[in-house]
Amino acid sequence: MKTIGLLGGMSWESTRTYYEAINQEVRARCGGLHSAKIAMYSVDFDEIERLQDAGRWDQAGRVLAEAAKRVEATGADFLLLCSNTMHSVAPEIEQAIGIPLLHIADATAEEVKGTSLHTVGLLGTKFTMELDFYRGRLVSRHGLEVLIPAESERELIHRVIYDELCMGRLLDVSREQYVDIINKLAARGAEGIILGCTEISLLVAPEHSPLPLFDTTTIHARAAVDWALA
Ligand code: GLU
Repeated sequence: MKTIGLLGGMSWESTRTYYEAINQEVRARCGGLHSAKIAMYSVDFDEIERLQDAGRWDQAGRVLAEAAKRVEATGADFLLLCSNTMHSVAPEIEQAIGIPLLHIADATAEEVKGTSLHTVGLLGTKFTMELDFYRGRLVSRHGLEVLIPAESERELIHRVIYDELCMGRLLDVSREQYVDIINKLAARGAEGIILGCTEISLLVAPEHSPLPLFDTTTIHARAAVDWALA
């Protein structure tokens, strides 16, 4: 079994989901007392969020590249960056380490391509929904059709992620607003929804959604176990 490297803390509310999902998957596949070999470094999210807010992606890239090197030095065979948003600095991280990065958008796109669905709605932070590093990758590398919510809806989704989900607050009113947005994406032709933020599945589960959900946290965790056991 290979050692899975986790670069987490963005936020820790979702990193603990990774830890649990990876271990449950290893138990399901290997049985008995088997558990995952994991090397983890967890950042102080306040530092990262300030850099995002100031648009200082270069500095955020340096901080995460240093953290990734620590994970590698601990013996990880490959790395998962436990945030969709921070894949905006994936190239800087990949340059700094000698082990492969399991890209969350690639793992998610493979999952979508394994179904008959082609047009997906994307929910995530403003950065993930609006910048090219994520949506562009789904479109140009994987040939998916990707719809994003209207601007005011993107604001709402973003605010709920940082002010509620990353703080461990799960509110019914926010869930209803997310489901409304999913309904609107369905009306525009979305056949499935990518939960492109690792905290959204804490709030919205398949039973709340009129469309199939692609939860990036679960998909990424499962892909990690595929790599670890390959
Ligand atoms: N966990 C989040 C994501 O998947 C948002 C927090 C962050 O900005 O890293 O994008």
